[in-house]
Amino acid sequence: MGGLKDVKLIVDGKRLDGRAPTELRPIKMQVGVINEADGSAFIEWGNNKIICGVFGPRECIPKHEANPYKALVKCRYMMSPFASLEEHGKSGPSRRSVELSKVIRETFQNIILVEEFPNTEIDIYIDVLQADGGTRTASITVAALALANAGIPMKDMVTAIAVGKGGDELIVDLGKLEDNFGQSDMPLAFSAREKKILLVQMDGLLTREEIEKLLDMAEKGAEMVYAMQVDALKEYYLKDEETKFKL
Ligand code: ADP
Repeated sequence: MGGLKDVKLIVDGKRLDGRAPTELRPIKMQVGVINEADGSAFIEWGNNKIICGVFGPRECIPKHEANPYKALVKCRYMMSPFASLEEHGKSGPSRRSVELSKVIRETFQNIILVEEFPNTEIDIYIDVLQADGGTRTASITVAALALANAGIPMKDMVTAIAVGKGGDELIVDLGKLEDNFGQSDMPLAFSAREKKILLVQMDGLLTREEIEKLLDMAEKGAEMVYAMQVDALKEYYLKDEETKFKL
């Protein structure tokens, strides 16, 4: 029986949305979008729409969780009931949102200068308003902007992107159908300057050679996303002469 599973992900060298294998979806980012958070950012990555608000460092609640040596990083990733077909009016935590919250938290726990803020917590709230594949990587990218906007010191900027294999081709920045029906996908997060890998997950099968090629492709894609992050931060902080002077 035919159906979505038989969809051809590559036709004449082009992907379903007309992209070349290494081409990214259109991306827009905006910093400082929420009044009541210490830092915030919004990202549109293809059809993904994700907003992130950050609080902290602030007193750790419950107190018995507080670590006298470092700040605790907490993350709550959530999809809105209208984020995608699957959610379809459902709301609240799921197995998937617990996993994504965990991997995003761990990504940042390793890059924020947590030792500077003992006994505190840093909260990252991520709301996915619309999902179209690659929400964990887009969420990490937007959370890095929100953390920077909250003035939370990090060893490096964080940029994330997914790579994988669909229609027997190695591809960058998988869309939902590529993610769901491709042969493999590998979301990655990098530190921008040192190019350390902060997150790697993999679904499906890849050979060692394919992984090596995909890491190179991901690094190039992440460089482009990083340039957009820098532009988004500059746009916010250089928007008037007064703040420009403070920098
Ligand atoms: P990611 O968003 O990081 O690629 P997955 O690989 O789990 O995460 O999901 C791929 C895409 O499939 C998501 O971006 C979303 O569009 C859709 N999806 C998967 N699971 C769900 C779900 N439970 N609710 C809504 N959408 C989902």
